[in-house]
Amino acid sequence: MKIGIIRCQQTEDMCPGNTDFKIASEGKMAFAETGPCEIVGFVSCGGCPGKRAVSRAKMLVQRGAEAVVIASCISRGNPIGVPCPHFEKMKESIAKGVGPGIKIIDWTH
Ligand code: SF4
Repeated sequence: MKIGIIRCQQTEDMCPGNTDFKIASEGKMAFAETGPCEIVGFVSCGGCPGKRAVSRAKMLVQRGAEAVVIASCISRGNPIGVPCPHFEKMKESIAKGVGPGIKIIDWTH
């Protein structure tokens, strides 16, 4: 499956997203269900409060993503345990923005 990943802009200074690339290509953890994935794009939410995430998710879909993945830095607060306070709204807005044909995966590892 082709996927596009959205990550937290606040954690870019402490994580390059290497684990996301590794587990997606191996089809592990959040990708155990989909199998090995090809990442078509890896972008940030655009900064708080994450309003750019919707247009960026649409861009990922335009580039071939069949699923939009919200990385665990957003939903689980990896790596320092501070989840995004806008996660639920962001997820809802992304799902609405990309439409029902696109799968939303709300964690990575
Ligand atoms: S909106 Fe959430 S995901 Fe985006 S930078 Fe802020 S805390 Fe991170």
